[in-house]
Amino acid sequence: MKRVYLLAHPAGHSLSPQVQNAAFAQLEMDVCYEALDVPPAKLEAAVERLRDEEVLGANVTVPHKLRVMPLLDELTAAAETIGAVNTVINDEGWLLGHNTDAPGFFRALTEAAHFDPVGKRAVLLGAGGAARAVAYALLSAGVADLSIYNRTFEKAQTLAGALSELGAVRALRAGELEALERAELLINATSVGMEHEGQDPDCSPLPPGLLPRRALVCDIVYRPARSRLLRDAAAAGLAVQNGLPMLVYQGVESFRAWTGREASAKVMLEAARGALSRG
Ligand code: NAP
Repeated sequence: MKRVYLLAHPAGHSLSPQVQNAAFAQLEMDVCYEALDVPPAKLEAAVERLRDEEVLGANVTVPHKLRVMPLLDELTAAAETIGAVNTVINDEGWLLGHNTDAPGFFRALTEAAHFDPVGKRAVLLGAGGAARAVAYALLSAGVADLSIYNRTFEKAQTLAGALSELGAVRALRAGELEALERAELLINATSVGMEHEGQDPDCSPLPPGLLPRRALVCDIVYRPARSRLLRDAAAAGLAVQNGLPMLVYQGVESFRAWTGREASAKVMLEAARGALSRG
């Protein structure tokens, strides 16, 4: 049996084991995906284990997406520009770091929400690891312009600077948020609104009453299925999409990177919904 691991800390709340194992089962592949709780001090040893012959690779998530980078042998151009790795491929002991959050977000936007980002005005909330991948995907796809708003302005500024060669991108200050009224696409890539220990899931990343006039509103949070932001947007008559399609498509992309085979997005989505409904 071959193995794929998730390196996370904590690891318990991830849907990836259910999602990936459903796809391996459907294709009758003898592969097991297992989540490992890896505290930061044990990351290096966990990465070394990925070189074993039986291991196809791994997903990497909070808090290791950046820290894992210097432990790998090579990075794809996308992972290097995004500055984060969520997928490791074991090629006969040689570890390649890749990022499938960016194509995962792009496919969710275009294939699940049927939204063409080319030439559109987009606003992104957040400047963490996931936001970096979303910004890379949107600028690479050819949005007209991208404005990034983040609680810590300097991080938005750093992200805009890092991606400025890909297109028109700038950081927004809180006083400039009215700009989002004209946005055609709004994405929340902060963790605000997520149902998580110690966090209030009824929070929105936006001040009350501030929404685009006509836009698709995406939240990459998927627990709860309708975040406060998505509920407010739907009540205002805007189209909405949560983070489940992105989770599924980044999984499809990682699956292909490990195995060379195409997983069924439908099977993965059903597995994710089933796992969420069981709590
Ligand atoms: P991260 O690197 O820790 O970044 C967190 C972001 O949220 C930062 O921009 C941070 O702002 C902001 N933030 C956190 N608490 C906040 C608050 N109380 N008020 C305002 N802003 C706040 O995390 P990440 O890896 O980017 O993940 C972000 C979210 O995306 C998580 O909920 C994660 O589960 C989700 N995600 C979903 C998918 C998917 O496939 N759907 C994939 C990846 C991630 P500061 O910079 O000011 O701290």
